[in-house]
This record gives sequence, structure tokens and C-alpha cells, in this order.
Amino acid sequence: MTMKKLGVIYGGKSAEHEVSLMTAKAVIGALDFSAYDITPIYITIEGEWVCGELLTTAPSNPEELRFAGKGQADSILEFVQRASDPTTRFDIVFPVLHGPNGEDGTIQGLFEMMNLPYVGNGVLASSAGMDKVTMKQLFHQAGLNQVPYAYITHFEYDNDPAAFVEKCENELTYPLFVKPANLGSSVGITKAKNKAELEKAIDFAFQYDRKIVVEQGITAREIELSILGNDKPTVSIAGEVLPTKDFYDYSAKYVDGTTNYAIPAEVSEQELHNLQQAAIAAFKVLDGAGLVRADFFLTQDGEVYINEVNTLPGFTPISMYPKLWIATGKTYAQLVEELIQFGLERFEEKQ
Ligand code: ADP
Ligand code: MG
Ligand code: MG
Repeated sequence: MTMKKLGVIYGGKSAEHEVSLMTAKAVIGALDFSAYDITPIYITIEGEWVCGELLTTAPSNPEELRFAGKGQADSILEFVQRASDPTTRFDIVFPVLHGPNGEDGTIQGLFEMMNLPYVGNGVLASSAGMDKVTMKQLFHQAGLNQVPYAYITHFEYDNDPAAFVEKCENELTYPLFVKPANLGSSVGITKAKNKAELEKAIDFAFQYDRKIVVEQGITAREIELSILGNDKPTVSIAGEVLPTKDFYDYSAKYVDGTTNYAIPAEVSEQELHNLQQAAIAAFKVLDGAGLVRADFFLTQDGEVYINEVNTLPGFTPISMYPKLWIATGKTYAQLVEELIQFGLERFEEKQ
């Protein structure tokens, strides 16, 4: 059997840098070393790309995957050279990155330009899934139920802040969730209970993005589903996020480790059916590929609202996305292998 050359790209200029290192360790550890020649490619927190040597064994700890670069911010030349040279070219690359530059279509665009097969979503699904406004507009097109919202750019807000605050107060009911349009991990998100908090939350969100969304808060359970595949996507059972805090904020996600999951979520057959249908519809309207995690609100009377999709969801063995598949009988290693195969399949389709 010929060995396949696989590049695993991780780290990144992102709040989820450390999470990415843990994911990379798990993904590499799950790979079959007799089938793949594995090159670790580390993007430092400053944005420098550092290609490692071929791995002979799985790293025993994420720190082994942290390489020192030459300190050249944004230098991707080494990667581009390796990936362009026919003797070192990758058969496929696996981006294990989260947030801006990893999950938003930019790196996927680089792979497309280089004609490199890659794991996961393409440019369109990645960028549309990263922009909460565009995502909502597409969900609306697909007939998916969503909470009422308003959005605005910094330029427009600056022009007449009072008008936007008034619009939010007229059209939406407190509490409101104010979010930067293009981010994840709950960074920049605040729950506002009154006008003063709303104004503060808007200024805060604008520190992270030039476009923001204000959403009506909903009292509901948070349910997530995993989707896997390309043209014939399959959808997992449902899992529930059980935050022990006011909402599922950054520290609940990554710092305290206080968040619990219930897998499977306790939902009725009808609710599960509705959730699964909506998850597939969201995947299709984005033209998803490989993997997507679709996140929902489920109200007490069984109404399903889509909150968002994540096109490169958390992927450590204890993350929701893999856990939902593991609960249906797949192993983590099988999941990693299937994602690689779906990446190759999608590339073949385009040829
Ligand atoms: P991110 O992409 O950063 O994960 P989300 O839109 O998922 O952003 O919001 C993060 C968390 O904030 C959610 O998991 C939920 O706990 C809470 N939240 C967000 N929007 C609402 C809303 N409209 N009503 C109630 N809770 C919300
Ligand atoms: Mg998100
Ligand atoms: Mg979320």
C-alpha cells in the first residue's frame, strides 16, 4: 500500500490556540501510522507557519506539537513550498483550527488556490458559517425557525447610535444577546437586561468586529447535533449542553470545565426528528462538506430554533461533535478516517 502524505495544520492566531493543539494531538494519535506519512504544521499564536518533521510516533502530549519558528509573522512560504513540490506535496491536509483564519474560509481558499485536497467545509460554507448575519439570512431562506434579531455595522451605528438602540428596544424584548458577527467561542458576547447594558454590550462587541448582531434572548435548552458527509450527509443523535452558569460563555467553554453534556439529550421522538431535519437543512443551505455541528434552542413546548452552525467544531475526544458519533457506535479513529475520505471524495468530485 502506498503511504498517503497527510498534513495536519493546527494552532493559529486564535483564542482557541490551545484547544487546537489538544485536538491535533488527538487527531494524530487516532491516525494509522502505517497508512499515512504525517507532517505536523504549526501556526504560532503570532501567525507564523512552522512545518515539522515527519512524525514517527503519535505525540504523547500536545506540547510536543508546539514548535519554535524563526519569528517571521505570517510567513507561510515554507508550507507553500512543501505543498507545491511534487516530492513533498500532501495528498490531503487536515485543518484543525478554530475561529477567524481557520474556520472562516480563508485557509480553505489557500488550499483551493493550491489545488490541495482538504478535510471539511469549503470556502462558501466556512465563510457563511462564520458570519452570523449571513448565516441567519441563509437559514431564513431555508425556512428555519430563528429568534428575532437586528444587526448593524460600526459605520452605521456611529452615524446614529440612538436610532439602533431604539430599533432594538422596539423590535426585540429583553434580555438581549449582543454578539460580534464574525467570531466564536462566545468571545465578545454579552447578555443585556436593559438599555444601559445594551449600549455597553454594543460597544464591547464592536471591539471585536465591525458588524454586530443583537438577538432576542430565549429561555430554552441548548441542543447540538453532528452532521457528517458530503452530498448524502448523515446526522447524529442529539446532545444537550448543560451550562452551570448564566450562559455558555467563553470560560464555561474553556476555562472552568464546568459545562456538562447529556448524550443523548432527553428529547421526544418528534423533537429529535425536527432537530435532525433542521440540522440537515442547515447543512444543505450552506453547502456543507465533511463536518458541521448544528446548535439549537429547544423550548419547553418543543419548538426548535436554530442558533448557529460551526463548520470546524471542537474536535477533541471529549468535544460534543465526536462524542455524538461515538455514542452511536463509531470510534474517534473511524471518524477521523471518514473525514479524510470525505475530503478526498470531495476533491475527486471537483476534478
Ligand atoms: P458562539 O458562536 O460564540 O458560540 P453563540 O451564538 O452560540 O456564539 O452564543 C454563545 C452562547 O450564548 C450560546 O451557547 C448560549 O448559551 C448563549 N446565547 C446566545 N444567543 C442566545 C439567545 N438568543 N438566547 C439565549 N441564549 C443565547
Ligand atoms: Mg459559533
Ligand atoms: Mg455557539
